[in-house]
Amino acid sequence: MSKVILKECKNYDLENLVRIINESMEQLGGWNKYIQSGDKVLLKVNLIGPKTSESAAITHSEFVRALVRILKKKGCTVWIGDSSGGAIAGIAPTAQSFKVSGYEKVAKEEGAIIKNFDSEGVVEVTAESNPREKMYLAKPLFDADVVINLPKLKTHSAGIYTGAVKNLFGCVPGLRKAKYHKMAPDPLDFGHIIVDIHKATKFSLHIMDGIIAMEGEGPTAGRVYQANKILISEDPLALDRVAIDMLGLKIEDVPILLASQKRGLGESKLENILIEGDYQEAPKLKNFRLPKRFKTGKKRNYKVLIKVIDFFKTRPKVNLKNCKGCNVCVESCPMEAIDKDTKKINYQICIECMCCHELCMHKAVELKKDNFLAGIVANLSLKSHR
Ligand code: SF4
Ligand code: SF4
Repeated sequence: MSKVILKECKNYDLENLVRIINESMEQLGGWNKYIQSGDKVLLKVNLIGPKTSESAAITHSEFVRALVRILKKKGCTVWIGDSSGGAIAGIAPTAQSFKVSGYEKVAKEEGAIIKNFDSEGVVEVTAESNPREKMYLAKPLFDADVVINLPKLKTHSAGIYTGAVKNLFGCVPGLRKAKYHKMAPDPLDFGHIIVDIHKATKFSLHIMDGIIAMEGEGPTAGRVYQANKILISEDPLALDRVAIDMLGLKIEDVPILLASQKRGLGESKLENILIEGDYQEAPKLKNFRLPKRFKTGKKRNYKVLIKVIDFFKTRPKVNLKNCKGCNVCVESCPMEAIDKDTKKINYQICIECMCCHELCMHKAVELKKDNFLAGIVANLSLKSHR
């Protein structure tokens, strides 16, 4: 039986957050079950893009601050990490997202360390669902002693809902994410990729920010909904099962969770989930709006999606006019794809992680669209994010 702690929490008052999270952890057996003084703890946030905490598109920065404060007090080194979305449009806005979200400020004030997954290197793992498929996941996930998932309670216009299970997609750095969207445009197939990421990593806790949630056309264009909930569990599927019950959804309504159920990622039957905290069963969230696609049942046009991904296909390229020859990019490329002398990138082996782009101090590694027109469209899209 899996346990989910479901607590009421009406705002992001720091003292209140620390108290509620600590109380919840007591009900899971106490912090000492998961961390020890001296551990390096990675908080994997939901930093989908350059959005503010008030937008409800990302894990609220005060929620992150509360976790940092708790863990620092316990003698841990705390990392805050993610790689933002944008790969379909050929943009990698993670560095900007860390600023806009307020996480950089939190890290500075609380003594945590930002881990931009687009500049930290990768570890190669094998996808459980397809042993011939290599996956490249952000290195801090494997360098940390403990990894904690901090998802956000949100709708998703394509996948209907996004929470603890889906939040691990950000473990794929840079523009590599576009490859998986292209490989698996069907949300059920995409769900299997997400499960592969769970199986290859070692998340020990999932702590969901459901205080302000996103309803309607999430994960970025929805509306703020005051849900007032915090959910904590060791089991991401059980946590999401309880969360979707609050939204009036079933496992079959959310393809990623259906894939997780099929692969045995966790517990999906409510009768096998013990809910503790302020509730014994999930309360329904009144008048919570689901995405339009859920009501119409309209399927996404996968051929169009693939065409969009191809249209925006983006690659890193060294602009020799700006290059100072420092070789930081050459040395940091996890695939050894950059020629030391010519700075040409071997696109046969490049995994589009964006390390070279993020680490070049001279802005000489540019992101180049294969399609000229796509470059103009993507620039406009990036500006509208700001
Ligand atoms: S890091 Fe930038 S400046 Fe240094 S060699 Fe690479 S492209 Fe040139
Ligand atoms: S050239 Fe290397 S560092 Fe740059 S995106 Fe490709 S794999 Fe990553």
